[in-house]
Order: sequence, then structure tokens, then C-alpha cells
Amino acid sequence: MRIQFLGAAETTSGACYLIQSGESRVLLDCGMFHGPEELKQRNYGDFPFNPAEIDAVILTHAHIDHSGLLPKLVKHGFTGPIYATSVTSDLCSIMLADSGYIQESEVERKNRKRSRRGQELLTPIYTVDDAYEAMKQFKRMVYDEEVEILPSLRVRFRDAGHILGAAIVELWADEGDKTTKIVFSGDLGNLDQPIVQDPTFITEADILVIESTYGTRTHENREGRLERLADVVNATVERGGNLLIPAFALGRTQDLLYSLRVLQDEGKIPVQNIYIDSPLATKATEVFQKHARVFDYETRSMIAEGRSPFEAPHVHYTETVQESMRLNSVSGGLVIISASGMADAGRIKHHLKHNLWRPQATVLLVGYQAEGTLGRRLQDGAREVRIHGDSVKVAAKIETITGFSAHADQGALLNWLRRFRHIGKVFVTHGEKASCHGFAEVIRDELKVPVVVPKLDESFDFEGAKVTSTWDSHYQSLTVPEQFAGVVQVAKGAEIKFRGAYGLAQRRYKIDNRFYTLFNLGSARHFFAQLALARLAEQGKIEAESMGPWSSEPVWEDVLRKLVPGRSPWEVVASEVLQPAGLGQSAFYYLDQLPAAAAAGYTTTQGGQLVENVYAVLREGFEPQLFSTAHDLRKLWNTLAEGEFLEPETVKSILNPYRAEQDLDLYTVEGQTPGAHVFLAGALQEACSIIVLSNGEAGVRAVFQQLITLSGAGR
Ligand SMILES: [Zn+2]
Ligand SMILES: [Zn+2]
Repeated sequence: MRIQFLGAAETTSGACYLIQSGESRVLLDCGMFHGPEELKQRNYGDFPFNPAEIDAVILTHAHIDHSGLLPKLVKHGFTGPIYATSVTSDLCSIMLADSGYIQESEVERKNRKRSRRGQELLTPIYTVDDAYEAMKQFKRMVYDEEVEILPSLRVRFRDAGHILGAAIVELWADEGDKTTKIVFSGDLGNLDQPIVQDPTFITEADILVIESTYGTRTHENREGRLERLADVVNATVERGGNLLIPAFALGRTQDLLYSLRVLQDEGKIPVQNIYIDSPLATKATEVFQKHARVFDYETRSMIAEGRSPFEAPHVHYTETVQESMRLNSVSGGLVIISASGMADAGRIKHHLKHNLWRPQATVLLVGYQAEGTLGRRLQDGAREVRIHGDSVKVAAKIETITGFSAHADQGALLNWLRRFRHIGKVFVTHGEKASCHGFAEVIRDELKVPVVVPKLDESFDFEGAKVTSTWDSHYQSLTVPEQFAGVVQVAKGAEIKFRGAYGLAQRRYKIDNRFYTLFNLGSARHFFAQLALARLAEQGKIEAESMGPWSSEPVWEDVLRKLVPGRSPWEVVASEVLQPAGLGQSAFYYLDQLPAAAAAGYTTTQGGQLVENVYAVLREGFEPQLFSTAHDLRKLWNTLAEGEFLEPETVKSILNPYRAEQDLDLYTVEGQTPGAHVFLAGALQEACSIIVLSNGEAGVRAVFQQLITLSGAGR
């Protein structure tokens, strides 16, 4: 049996694990990536597997980072069942449609700009219709019932207490006379969270895959959060202003309604008009009410006593935009709960615009505010912010209450883990890098069991309790010199066979090299200039003869400059190669204007001192350098191997001068410049690619040559 971690590995989003057992191929979750642009790019490209070959999907819950790419999976050929609880199915029908709508509108907005610039138009990852199409494949499951979903594969969903409908998944795989039990925690909730039950305790797992969102943190003031909420409400009432709460539509909004109702019933806050101003939150609340039987005891009792948190004369759900706008003319006395949770989109922005300048108003932040969002700027104490192009003074009180999280903190995760009688091996996923590794350390100490933090795309083979990384087993003899800094990757088609990241991307700030770090390609940029020339020649835009043979060695960017006058070579490479080949992470940058994800180059001066190349390379500093990632270069290689980007004959004739050794069917493109040394090598038949990217100069060739041998490439 084999598991490959295709998302939520050393990061929190994009949960997707591919499980292969016997003939069966099953996905656990198929989530969307959020966060850094380099990760988000994964939402656009091809899946690293063939969707038509997947037999089934097991879905833990409706959050988009777990379910968000299901419509894309179906659109690209997946026809099997999607197993999820009834609540998750109902929530997905609104969440995925909403996500499809967001994709469509985002692309529409971008395309307006692109068509003005004469650029190629984008297509959305999926549409609202694709989302509805995917819903037809959902199969409803109930908690606690064991179901055989494929021959020799059984599953059982258990309540995860995270959001309504969320599940822990127990999976039994029979191979021969052996049965392996794998437990996926999914996202685990807190004890005593409103509305949902407490997480179910599990006692046995040969393999446990556990989340670690808050693996190294403790939620402070969880008990005190209701008192804090009461204080904030009362202080706002006293000042006579409105209380604005940006909140996620699913989960957090309903938790707030519950908490406000409890405080009102206890007489701790006055009964005020509460407006839910988010169509998605309204729909999600309807789904909640339909499934009241899975609420926890307290919430069911409240409803039985006629004290539903969701239905009361003072709880209003706005429907139309006009209704929403009418709230803008009310200067005080309202509670407005509106999406998005980080205030960077949605109707909450209008309400902020009309209330932020009022000293009587309060903005209450109850969720995580990511860097760069409006919510975060307010939290950080901005005195003035821009909303819809207007600058707005911040006079309102900005309050934060932590403790509303739907994720278990370290204590709660350990508490859940301690109930196990048997664990063979633990995989820690769904957390930022530091969180995954920190929590793995804690589990090793506390439970004395073997713990692994899988890397993105890494696969593991299981034989009973014996677990081996297929990466380690084939590449364990790779010796990487200590001074080597960079990323290496071996792939066959879409499958990553091995990948490693070493050393620092930024010495000054101690930022590690990561799989999606951008590297300077140095002189390999001329290979890209060749590809651009070949494309233009194939389209008849330039004369093929005027370029000279590919085996000659002119400075290809100069040839491009001569044959395409009026545009810089890098503009031409961007529009003829990077864009049409879909290399969304690659771009030209000036060395003193690198984006955060780019590695700084380090070079050794004649005096033997290691310096950042931005100071060392004035000669090339005047021209932008081509930066790319291992991900993009693999994509480029596969595109060239497919023979659709350029005629197969053209590809071969460009690559022939790059042939490494006569007896290997392998081409090697090498790039160098002070502070950068890279190799892109590969065979065309099986789209096998070997990539070594370094932001230093030491040990690069040695690593590259070992990878050629270990991968058996070109033979
Ligand atoms: Zn979740
Ligand atoms: Zn999640």
C-alpha cells in the first residue's frame, strides 16, 4: 500500500492524500491551496495524477481547503463516488457553488484587463455549473457506520467536532491476509465548542495522519471568551455605535450567533438587532438548521426550549443588496456579522467603510487575520486604511478575541492522542512548517512512537508496520555537500520521484530554501530565448533562416533583440514562452527588486568572502534575471516532451546541442552566473526531468551527477 501527500504537507491548505491499495486508488480530500502565490499556482495546473484513474474520494469536511478542488477533479475526468456525511454534502453544495462563482468573477475581472492589453484570456479553475455537476457524485454517509466502498477497502466516519458534519476517517485496507488500519484525523475540533459535538476518541491505528494547525500553540482565554464578548458588546452599546464582526460564513458565524444568544438569555448583554449580512452565511445557517439532530446536547436543548440561536425576532438575515445598504444609514445599536472573515472581500467592506470613522463603533476580530489583509491592518493598529479606493480614517475601537478557533490546540490534540491504545506510526500534516515539526517533536516525547512530517508530494510504502518513503529508499545514498544551497527534483511525467530543499534562500533573514523558492536561472535564460525564437519562427513571425543553426553559439537574447526590434528579449520570452507554457511562477526580476519567494544569490569574492550577488554583479544587475521554480521547469520539460508547444522535430533540434553524453538519451541545459548555478536535464520519451537549482556555487555539479545515476535517467 502507498500514500502520497499531495497537499497540506508542511502547510495548512490543499489537503489531498492519494491512497493506493491493490488495484484501488482513492483520494482523501481534494482541497484548494491558499496562502503564498507559489502554492496557489497548484490550483491551476494539472493534477499530479490522472483524475479518471481515481476510484473514489473520501471527504472529511466542507471547508474549501479540503473540498475546493472537487469540481476541478470532476471536470478533468473523475467519475467515481465522493463519500461524505450528509451535512458535508449539503454544505458543499453551497460552498462549492460559491467557490465556482468566486473563480468566475476573479477571471472575469482579470480578463477585462488582459483583453485591453491584448493578452490571452484566462479560464476559471471551475465554474458554478462545474460545482453543481460535482455534487451529483456525492454519496451520503452517516457517522459511526462501517461501509465497504471498494473491494478490500472499508471506511467509517466519526464526528471530528470541528465544524458541523466534519469527520475523522477510519480506513481499513486488506491486502492478502493483512489488514492495515489508517486513521485520518481530518481537522479536529475543541472540547466544548458551541453547536458541534466533542471529537470522537479513536483507540487503534496502524497509521495515523494528524493535523497540526495549532500543534505548537495554546488557545488562551477559551473559557473567558464569552465574558470578553459581553464586555465588547456592552461597551459598544454604551458608546451608542454599531458592532461589526467580520466572520467566516461557515462555522464562525453560527458560533457567534450561539454565543450572543447565550449571553442575551443570561441577561449579560441587552437584546439587540443582529444582522447576518452574507448570503453564504445565511445559506450555511439554513443547512445547520436542517441538520439540528447532529448538534451537541446544549444546542439541541436550547432549540427544544424555543431559544434557537438561529431564529429569533431580533435575528435578521439580509437578502438583497438594498437591504444590506440600508444598514449603512444606521449609526448605532446594531450587531452586523458579515463575511469575509479577514475583511478583505465581501459585504463587510461596505460596513467598515461606513463605520470605521465613527469613534462609537467597534470592529471585533474573532478569527485568524492573515498578513496583507484589511483585518490584519486593523488589528495592527492602522490609523487609516483604503477601502474600495477611498481612504478611511480609523476612529472605531478595534478588538480581538482569540479562543473562537474551531481547531484543537496542542493540549486538545495531545488529549485526543493519549486515548489511543495502539499507534504504529504518525504522520503530522496540515500545519505550517514550524508547527508540523514542532508538534512531531512533542508527539515523539509524549507517546514514544515514530513520527514523520511528510514533504509535499512525498510517497510512502506500507508493509504492515514497516513504512518507507519511496523518496528515501531510492535516493538515500544521495550525498549533498554541506555548502550546497538549493532545490533538487526528479520527476517522471507529473509524478515527483524525489525532491529535496537545502540551505538558506536568504542568509540575512534565515529563510530556508523551499520547494517553491524562485531561483535565478543565470545563462540558462538563453535556452528560453531559443524557445521564443523557435515559437516565432513556427508561427511565421520571423524567418527561420535568419537565426542561424541551433548548434551555433550566439548570445540568443541578442538574436532575439535583432529579430524582434522594439521589444526587450525578456518581454518576448515572457509572452512567447512563460505565458503560453503556463509557467505562472517564472518571471524576470531585477536583482535589487526580488519578490519574497526568491532566493538571494551568494557568490565568493576573490578575497574568499561570501557575499550577496546583488552587490557583486553590477554587470548583470542592469538587466532583469530570469527566475523560476522546480515546479515550473518540470512543467516546461513535460510541455516540450508532449510536442504541442513546439513541433517535436524543433524541440529535438534545439536540444541536440545540449546532449550530455552520447550513450545517454539525456539533454542537459546548464545555467550559471555569479551566485547561481542550475541544471535542467531530461529525457523526452517518458518526460523524465532532473532539476538542480542553486543560489550558491558549491557542490552543484556533484549533486546533479549523483541524481543522474540514482534516477537511472536516460538509459
Ligand atoms: Zn477545516
Ligand atoms: Zn483544514
